[in-house]
Amino acid sequence: MTHALHYGTACFGGIRGYWNDDAEQLFVFRIRDHYRRFLNSAKLLMMDLPHSEDELSEITLNLLRREGWREDVYIRPLAYKADEKIGVRLHNMTDEMTIFSVPFGRYIEKEEGAHVTFSSWRRIDDNAIPARGKISGAYVNSAFAKSDALLAGFDEALVLNADGHLAEGSAENIFIIRDGVAVTPPVTDNILEGITRKTIKHLLQSDLGVDVIERPIDRTEVFVADEAFFCGTGVQVASITRVDHRPIGDGAMGAITSRLRDLYFDIVRGKDERYGHWRTPVHVEQSVSSPA
Ligand code: PMP
Repeated sequence: MTHALHYGTACFGGIRGYWNDDAEQLFVFRIRDHYRRFLNSAKLLMMDLPHSEDELSEITLNLLRREGWREDVYIRPLAYKADEKIGVRLHNMTDEMTIFSVPFGRYIEKEEGAHVTFSSWRRIDDNAIPARGKISGAYVNSAFAKSDALLAGFDEALVLNADGHLAEGSAENIFIIRDGVAVTPPVTDNILEGITRKTIKHLLQSDLGVDVIERPIDRTEVFVADEAFFCGTGVQVASITRVDHRPIGDGAMGAITSRLRDLYFDIVRGKDERYGHWRTPVHVEQSVSSPA
């Protein structure tokens, strides 16, 4: 009878941990940013979770230490309305939460060249179910788009807003490159405020010297873009090389996407030691306490 199972009254997070073999270390990427968004999603659902961002991070690091993973993992915190009650509402409910981690590889197989389609399903509007929250019930919208795309032979869906502008993929944000400038939909266009999106925006501007503009994107701009790629915790950075049977650019991963992808993987795995504040090491050196 769990309320969340009937009505979708839950919210979740999706965080990655990257194993670095040389350093024998598991690095969790932007853990505090993920928990800040998780707590905001909970707030939208009128949940009052008894943990701070820092506490949730610490609980997660302890979980990962106990699991002892020596490979890449995905971490899934979930908060849900736990009462066994009939009746749709958000208020006066008991909230529970759980966190688990599992070994995880690719989210979509063709990260180097995905073939995608514009979905006939529209993105949920902020005034229906807020897309900026990672709200479980809202993912039925993503599931409609994703299944139709996969069953039609594509790797992923592009989803438009009700006004016909591009929002995002079924579970990833999107950038297009036109004339050397990166363009991505603004946070007011019914997208999840992606943490990878924020990371990519920074890397494009600071490391690759590529300007980034946030503005509404027309469907046909994607067809004529020089490059396009998805970004997200699951999908990482995945090149889009065909949209509805039309090649993007010359139909292969573009130069900016390729450089960005290499940079992203080096940073998340800690091969590139810059941006240390984005990586939390799971294993800490045991300090040897002096005998009393
Ligand atoms: N949009 C949607 C709908 C998503 O589910 C995700 C994955 N969490 C993203 C975008 C990417 O967000 P992030 O980079 O924070 O993982």
